[in-house]
Amino acid sequence: MPPARDRKKTRAGRIAIVGRPNVGKSTLLNALLGEPIAITSRHPQTTRDQILGVVTREDAQFVFVDTPGVHRARHKLGARMNALARDAARDADVVVFMTDLTPEARPTMSEEDRAILAALPKSLPIVLVLNKVDRVKDKERLFPVLERLAKEHDFAAIVPLSALREGAPPEAQQRARPAEGLRRLLDEIRERLPEQPKLYDDDTLSDKPVRFFVAEFVREQILRKTFQEVPHGVAVTVERFEEPTAKKPDAATHIELAIHVDREAHKKILIGARGSMLREIGTEARKRVEQMLGKHVHLQLWVRVTPKWFESDARLKELGYAGDGAVASSGDGEDA
Ligand code: GDP
Ligand code: MG
Repeated sequence: MPPARDRKKTRAGRIAIVGRPNVGKSTLLNALLGEPIAITSRHPQTTRDQILGVVTREDAQFVFVDTPGVHRARHKLGARMNALARDAARDADVVVFMTDLTPEARPTMSEEDRAILAALPKSLPIVLVLNKVDRVKDKERLFPVLERLAKEHDFAAIVPLSALREGAPPEAQQRARPAEGLRRLLDEIRERLPEQPKLYDDDTLSDKPVRFFVAEFVREQILRKTFQEVPHGVAVTVERFEEPTAKKPDAATHIELAIHVDREAHKKILIGARGSMLREIGTEARKRVEQMLGKHVHLQLWVRVTPKWFESDARLKELGYAGDGAVASSGDGEDA
């Protein structure tokens, strides 16, 4: 038995981040991790997979699942996203339910928010995060809001914060110390996690393989650069991933990716005039991949037309959007 018995006991567990699209779930996860891994954009439903982000402190380990916004399913892909969000909450020890604030300090808390809240398992502690407090100039206005929300639902805690401001700037490679809101959020979550040893190594950031992030970085650039023109009917797969050999350790890592689109017209947009769009996407994505890997990368992109890929179960599986949450539940089998 270790002598330091008065040390705080280690707690660990899974935390699902749920909420409407665009409230800032991915931004929060990035801020907590201090390194950008979940992709963000102004488009709702950017997040298509669960992302397991792991935050390790001396006294606790927080295993975060970034769920896609719960929303009404319009086609198969949508249905899958809903299933992933529900599963994430079911396997979690704590749920972080996120909504955002308007500049007048009104919590959005729409019908959609309430529907999500109602769908969450009753047995789980729910921590409410009120995101985007940076929008609120007059912080005094927050107090009555907090009081009202506390009456509306039996939240385990209510934490106002700004995921955007409190996250470390992307240039800053040094992990910033968690800011006030983030620290309080982690403390509140920790109180509700089971006492148990850490589930992953201390330096684990995510259980996703590097190639997953490479594909996500490409998808992120597509969403940023093409806006509404190529909506969410796009998937990215890694076709080739070759690391330098031991003989030539300084050579570039060679990565080829295929971008799958639904329609010929989307292919045209993605390629752009004389390939200019595809080049831009490739350059920006390559920079992020190099930043993550810390080495030179050769990145090649192809565009393929696969009609109705998001409506076919088989195609979804092939492209990596497998069912039953298989993407996120590898690793430790903590029986909940
Ligand atoms: P998600 O769909 O819930 O994952 O939302 P994202 O994390 O992708 O964020 C959606 C949009 O809200 C992005 O444009 C973010 O930059 C923005 N956002 C996120 N957090 C904050 C915040 O604290 N303050 C402000 N002003 N904007 C934020
Ligand atoms: Mg997201």
